[in-house]
Amino acid sequence: MNQREPISLKKIHVTGVVQGVGFRPFVYQLAHEHSLAGWVCNTSAGVDIEVEGRSPALIQFLADLKAQAPPLAHVESITATDSPPDGYRQFEIRSSVTQEGEYQLISPDIATCQDCLRELLDPQDRRYRYPFTNCTNCGPRFTIIEDIPYDRPKTTMRDFTMCPDCQAEYDNPLDRRFHAQPNACPICGPHLSLLGEDGTAVGVEDVISAAVQLLTEGRILAIKGLGGFHLACDATNEEAVRRLRQRKRRPAKPMAVMMATMEKITTHCLVSREEEELLSSLQCPILLLPWKDDSTVCRLVAPGNRYLGVMLPYTPLHHVLLREMGRPLIMTSGNVSEEPIAIKNDEALTRLRGIADYFLVHNREIYARYDDSVWMVVEGRSQPLRRSRGYAPFPIRLSFKAQQILACGTELKNTFCATKDEYAFLSQHIGDMGNMETLEHFQASIELYKRLFRLEPEIVAYDMHPDYLATKYALGYGESVQLVPVQHHHAHIVSCMVDNGADGEVIGVALDGTGYGTDGAIWGGEFLVADYRSFRRVGHLQYVPLPGGEAAIHKPYRMAIGHLYSLLGEEGLSAALPFLGEMDELEVHIIKQQIDQEINAPLTSSCGRLFDAVSALLGFHGRATYEAQAVIRLEMIAADQDDGTSYPFSIVELDGIRAVQLADIWQGILDDLLGQVPAPAIALRLHNTMAQISLDMCRVAASETGLDRVALSGGCFQNRLLFTKTVATLREDGFEVLTHSRVPCNDGGVSLGQAIIANSTMQTVD
Ligand SMILES: [Zn+2]
Ligand SMILES: [Zn+2]
Ligand SMILES: [Zn+2]
Repeated sequence: MNQREPISLKKIHVTGVVQGVGFRPFVYQLAHEHSLAGWVCNTSAGVDIEVEGRSPALIQFLADLKAQAPPLAHVESITATDSPPDGYRQFEIRSSVTQEGEYQLISPDIATCQDCLRELLDPQDRRYRYPFTNCTNCGPRFTIIEDIPYDRPKTTMRDFTMCPDCQAEYDNPLDRRFHAQPNACPICGPHLSLLGEDGTAVGVEDVISAAVQLLTEGRILAIKGLGGFHLACDATNEEAVRRLRQRKRRPAKPMAVMMATMEKITTHCLVSREEEELLSSLQCPILLLPWKDDSTVCRLVAPGNRYLGVMLPYTPLHHVLLREMGRPLIMTSGNVSEEPIAIKNDEALTRLRGIADYFLVHNREIYARYDDSVWMVVEGRSQPLRRSRGYAPFPIRLSFKAQQILACGTELKNTFCATKDEYAFLSQHIGDMGNMETLEHFQASIELYKRLFRLEPEIVAYDMHPDYLATKYALGYGESVQLVPVQHHHAHIVSCMVDNGADGEVIGVALDGTGYGTDGAIWGGEFLVADYRSFRRVGHLQYVPLPGGEAAIHKPYRMAIGHLYSLLGEEGLSAALPFLGEMDELEVHIIKQQIDQEINAPLTSSCGRLFDAVSALLGFHGRATYEAQAVIRLEMIAADQDDGTSYPFSIVELDGIRAVQLADIWQGILDDLLGQVPAPAIALRLHNTMAQISLDMCRVAASETGLDRVALSGGCFQNRLLFTKTVATLREDGFEVLTHSRVPCNDGGVSLGQAIIANSTMQTVD
């Protein structure tokens, strides 16, 4: 080193996810490596550092600070200013400083790291088989934190006093558990217990072995995990799976499966390189994978589905259980139908009574409910279907500073979104708002976000649907805030734009189930020209009646009758009726009356309902027991061999708005059915037709505006076939196509769009 190089001091401020992730020990070691003196300290706003030394070492230190940051750290910004030297002699870690009103980003919960896994499986290690092993690089974070700064007394670990061994690790800057707030061991940390149906402890020597034994025998266990309870059973035991479905009152909805290792997964599913990366990422989400025919996971886990939702173990408890079990386990959310997952032991004992035979619980409290995240990879590109564990509350970074806004989201798959500075804090999955428990979860989570991120929303955005509970919640703010109603599909399209960091104007294709329109109709097949501030409806699928209103959503055959009768008349309906299975004549009569007299038959342009209707005609009879079940079936049965054919349609214009006429499509489907064209070919043709409709409408929008950029959003794009075909068709025609990759295309992403639209409309002009 050049000894004549003068000593100087740099004051450094780092923001991002830099607390609870081993950032200070990393800085400490880095300073030692470069022989620098000074200190590092956590503040409410991030991490402050002062380092003193010779210039080349300081420059290298700054470069390494960003490049070598620990795996869980997410450095947002590093600012450095020069100061006269202070004469520091050594480098030290100083204790945390609380600053009024300041906030920082919080790490999501992270799957068990390789170092901890090694200890967990090592019989010589003091944490061998200890189900709460964690370190600065892994373990619970968001689910145990009640306030900032992130320190043990502000987490649910406060009840556990560390033993001398754990304390020594915690205090040693060179230990990988330095300041790991949930640090614990079998001596001092949380522990498991096994309870019977009535909540009394089952006296066993080894709880995990006993649980494995019970699962092997085909019993159903409620297992307390990271962000809530799972219901678990042997996924290869058809009898057990059937019992779980009956008790959970969930006859058909696909359930997720956990498998011990990647090798195991590949024996049941096809796994691409991208999928393997995502499965074994720090977030460890559930991934929908092509399900092999010879898989021993019984088909009842996801009936009629080509894909199986699979995840790897992400807590030490899961690792030990799955390894000792030697078989895949169903790990489905611990709830009854659409209620939120249970998080407290007594809550689980009450709500899951009659479902679980035994309860595998522990005494580390869960503070925030946190469902598993669900992703899919389509043609090499991954996108979330449910953004929760491992992702929230990490924000979506905006390219501008937003006002403090709370956007309340929608009714199904609810999330909310709060913006502040250049961050959009999209909440974890909250769920379907139709019950008290979910509403409470929604409200409690909003309060938690307000506290953690020091939010005081001045603007509250909400969906235009007057009956949504989230809308009612928003209106409850009254005059204390500025209330901004946002149209559902405008929000979908803007969420896709923000997902892509795109601004300006786009053509928006929103293919969706239900969204309240500005004309009071139920929209869902929408072609818009939109920016952050406003939108214009270029066109939509033709309006058809939704006989019986919302009831039609659960009874796809009602939609089929609605389409056929209103578009093809009595004759068309009579020709089609035999394909709808056994029908109650009186019900058919009532449906027709509802349509004729326009009683309880609101109009809809929904793409989801069109697919429902066709699905009913192609063999989906009876009720749908979960959202989009009929639509999913249509995707699953569609033929693999594509002849590229589609059904004819026309577009008519009225007052500058186009309506895609559906009668010819229905006539085509009916002719195919009568001509005994197999259902898979018809299903495929419908997908092709929808892609063609999108292309034609985008061309119309392009010719009017000169735009060539299209954003795709809405729940129908969870359908891989529709997604792939639409993207390919538009790209072949020269359009730039924006799709989702960080937030869901379904209603889980809508709150993000609401927030950004509210921010733009309420922008004060300066
Ligand atoms: Zn670890
Ligand atoms: Zn200990
Ligand atoms: Zn929607």
